[in-house]
Amino acid sequence: MAKKNRILSGMRPTGPLHLGNLHGALLNWVDMQESYDCFFFIADWHALTSDYENPGAIGGFINEMMMDWLSVGLNPEKSTLFVQSHVKAHAELFLLLSMITPVPWLERNPTYKDQIVQLSNKDLSTFGFLGYPVLQAADIIMYKADGVPVGMDQVPHVEITREIARRFNFLYGNVFPEPEAVLTHTPKILGIDRRKMSKSYQNAIYLSDAPDVIASKVAGMITDPQRARKSDPGNPDVCNVFEFHKVYSDRETVDRINAECRNARIGCVECKQIMAQNLIKALEPVRRKRAHYQARPDLVADIIASGCKKATAVSDRTMAEVRAAMKI
Ligand code: SF4
Repeated sequence: MAKKNRILSGMRPTGPLHLGNLHGALLNWVDMQESYDCFFFIADWHALTSDYENPGAIGGFINEMMMDWLSVGLNPEKSTLFVQSHVKAHAELFLLLSMITPVPWLERNPTYKDQIVQLSNKDLSTFGFLGYPVLQAADIIMYKADGVPVGMDQVPHVEITREIARRFNFLYGNVFPEPEAVLTHTPKILGIDRRKMSKSYQNAIYLSDAPDVIASKVAGMITDPQRARKSDPGNPDVCNVFEFHKVYSDRETVDRINAECRNARIGCVECKQIMAQNLIKALEPVRRKRAHYQARPDLVADIIASGCKKATAVSDRTMAEVRAAMKI
């Protein structure tokens, strides 16, 4: 049987997962399990780069995140699911790569500049925050990943990883392959206020939300801003609720709402109720699986431990090669 290409991706445990995470990454990961050798990790050290003042909260989100992953279909029989800080070799490789990474490469990172502005309520003038692309490079090349699934905005991250791998190979010999960015196309799922769905904007619908919470969040969603009354024709093309319908409602319902909204034959309240019901129904299997894992904390702990063991076996082999190449 042909060897599968390996992909690696991670998520920072800074809060419960929401529909933006589901459609932006997780469903794609679930599909990739069938055709790739997948390594998915909970990036708790990365969470520390911006949330270092509140480390206890990060620890609490690790189990929650693993339960969310398992609930949407990530399968520990098919993928290696692990926690970054449980595989200490990531810290060693990060240290060694930091010796060879020029500081200007980090300073020109667009996300670094953007986050400093966006997260102005946090002091991010730290060595750890500036250097997080080096940690990311260590995470990726540790497993000699062939690809990293990313959206367009994250391509520069993969590029800096490739540059660091190339520099290591140039200085010490050919140890690391250069990973490719695997571009992912995802539906446009915005928050209930039409901004990017994010915990920090308080506009997210979480995978763990109860049905009544989902219904109330959907009821508060911003629709076509030009439509003030039910008798005004609406424009589904600019309405976030309609984007959700495209994902969660069947074709017939989408076509009907598309026509009735434009002719003012359906009001936003009714339209939202239909969407909320379909969304709640779609998330029902996720909620059921989550309840299963929530009642079995030992099972979740075993899954994490066994994933970390598999990841450690690979990272030990890589670090032996790295130390030999560097003669240390
Ligand atoms: S009827 Fe539905 S699609 Fe039309 S504006 Fe209202 S919520 Fe949006």
